Amino acid sequence: MRRSNVMKCRRCSAKAEVKLRAHNTAFCRACFVLFFGRQVDRCILKNRMFSHGDRVLVAVSGGKDSLALWHALVSHGYQTTGLHLNLGIGDYSTQSREKTEAFARVHGLPLIVLDLRTLNEDISIPTVAAFTNRRPCAACGRIKRHCFDTAALEHGFTVIATGHNLDDEAARLLGNVLHWQREHLAKQRPVLDPTHPKFVTKVRPLYLVSEYETAAYAFFSGIDYVVDECPHGAGATQLVYKKTLNRLEEEMPGTKHGFVKDFQRAAQPVFAAAESPPAGECSVCGMPSYGSACSFCTLVAEVRAKRERARATS
Ligand code: SF4
Ligand SMILES: [Zn+2]
Ligand SMILES: [Zn+2]
Repeated sequence: MRRSNVMKCRRCSAKAEVKLRAHNTAFCRACFVLFFGRQVDRCILKNRMFSHGDRVLVAVSGGKDSLALWHALVSHGYQTTGLHLNLGIGDYSTQSREKTEAFARVHGLPLIVLDLRTLNEDISIPTVAAFTNRRPCAACGRIKRHCFDTAALEHGFTVIATGHNLDDEAARLLGNVLHWQREHLAKQRPVLDPTHPKFVTKVRPLYLVSEYETAAYAFFSGIDYVVDECPHGAGATQLVYKKTLNRLEEEMPGTKHGFVKDFQRAAQPVFAAAESPPAGECSVCGMPSYGSACSFCTLVAEVRAKRERARATS
């Protein structure tokens, strides 16, 4: 008898559409969507990220990861509100906002939108990068963190969830290990408990879910997301790390999963023990800070000073 070599779904034996080499398994469309949701929910429960009583603020960029996360959380009955930051990066930001707003509208979900072009007299990423000569991504990370923290505090959320996936986590870990960035390694974990009364818990429920899986979930769930990447890219170095890890994954499926999971189990607690929380509060905005002004307000002050100087000389 001839054996069919059509791959079968592990759950229902229908023709498989998604092959997960890292898990040594395959699923049909419907079973994969179920598997994905359960995987995310299990991660939330196992890591005690939050419960159904929490008010979760989901940072939504309009890309596949954050929208897939929001969709999965809603499907599992969690109380969520989206937070979208318009970064002011040309067409990319316009499209990102449109996709996020459309998703919220279609699913009847609450969404908060903040526009950096109208905050502090314009702290959009291109403006900040131009005035301060900083790399856009460096300014962006700092601004995003501050906006998420202040929005959570202001609106009474108990948790901030972001859509970082396994590929992001593995690339970040590789970079941190290659340069022994102890401060960054101390903070690289899927649940960051608040280190100050004005902070809330920060979680990454997709930290063990690959980019391929979030793309498949978004596609099968009919999520319309921004396909274009931010023109500033995730940084050339980050891409090299991702490519290197993909080569390893190709040869040895499960490498990324093991790398990130084993780090969390075996090494992260050692780095976390040396973490020093912010001791004071920013004299400008009142948020937790290591110095007299937080890094966000320091950046805003620098932009303001350079803007005024530019006006004076024009
Ligand atoms: S690539 Fe850089 S500038 Fe673009 S959204 Fe990401 S961090 Fe921000
Ligand atoms: Zn199936
Ligand atoms: Zn501040």
